Amino acid sequence: MNCRIILLPGDGIGPEVMNSALAVLNEVGRIYDITFNLTEELVGGCCYEKHGVSITNETVKSCRGADTVLLGAVGGPEWDSLPHESKPETALLRLREELGLYSNLRPAIILPQLAGHSPLKRKVINGLDLMIVRELTGGIYFGKPRGHNSDKGWNTLVYTREEVERIAHTAFQLARKRANRVTSVHKANVLESSQFWKSVVSDVHRSYPEITLTDMYVDNAAMQLVSAPAQFDVILTQNMFGDILSDITGTLTGSLGMLPSASFGANHAMYEPVHGSAPTIAGYGVANPIGMIISVAMMFTYSLDLTEAGDLINKAVEAALANGYKTEDIASDDETPCTTKEMTDAIVGTINRMYDGTEASTNMEKVGK
Ligand code: NAD
Repeated sequence: MNCRIILLPGDGIGPEVMNSALAVLNEVGRIYDITFNLTEELVGGCCYEKHGVSITNETVKSCRGADTVLLGAVGGPEWDSLPHESKPETALLRLREELGLYSNLRPAIILPQLAGHSPLKRKVINGLDLMIVRELTGGIYFGKPRGHNSDKGWNTLVYTREEVERIAHTAFQLARKRANRVTSVHKANVLESSQFWKSVVSDVHRSYPEITLTDMYVDNAAMQLVSAPAQFDVILTQNMFGDILSDITGTLTGSLGMLPSASFGANHAMYEPVHGSAPTIAGYGVANPIGMIISVAMMFTYSLDLTEAGDLINKAVEAALANGYKTEDIASDDETPCTTKEMTDAIVGTINRMYDGTEASTNMEKVGK
């Protein structure tokens, strides 16, 4: 098997966690006899420094021609004062738009090894295993007109029927492979665009009678996520609501550094951790690489159709945690934190030993489902 991947490490801790992704790719590639054709490109603030833009046309073209894209993170305080169109984060918006990545999947589970690290009581987070399906190329982040002057600032929240239908299909199809429940999150008590969202999701639901659909206002969803998160299976929501809610799930699971994400369109896919460039810890070699590494696992499962390799990576992550490897963000007061490299080496070593059969996948049972 041959696979062409574009690597976009980006800024801050992006290159550090991308190194971890590469170590895992090499090991899994060796085991499953996959040849990766890897091309690294600049994106974000580092690209602005060299080319005066957050992403070049050539890089967008390369991403279009690749099997898949892996991204670290972009941004940092040194670029905060740039005009909006030059900011590092515009690279992400451009990639999502030009690759047509309208579905963003953000899973969150609670691992037994981290249950004590969640800010919520164990009995509240027991059974947490949810998937946020966030619409990624529409809504208020893309609507026009938008702008600001010295008197006012404005954005437009608009969704078309086609945009809502396709993301609703993604959510219902995913629910079929999970616990058959979808919660559609919106603000239909206030926003017309949400009333439209609610009615289109309900139309699409007719094709999935086996799935239970529940509607929930976004403010209530935020509260339910911290008071009774185990009730959720698939959360289907719009661009900005998904952005905010998935940071809440980051805290529930112990650290933002643990969360992976996958973005799909009709023809392209991109995988990246949920976290940003974490500028205050960049360069110290202490970033948690797990969000990035599980993003690689999702890539194997969803883009390369190698679920076995994805499962192997996930189990190796759980085993490394069970063996006491914890980066600073997830270590308890009485635990000595490990570095990014130590965590990566532990995961890669476990992948190797598990595949050889010399290490059983013990301690793998998740809390709850
Ligand atoms: P952030 O995710 O970078 O950091 C939030 C907090 O989580 C910080 O305390 C950070 O140290 C910690 N953290 C994040 N990832 C971690 C990891 N892997 N290991 C250990 N700790 C981790 O969010 P922020 O501080 O709001 O943003 C910093 C920069 O990143 C900004 O420029 C922002 O625009 C950008 N950003 C980029 C992306 C992206 O590239 N997808 C996403 C969010 C924010």
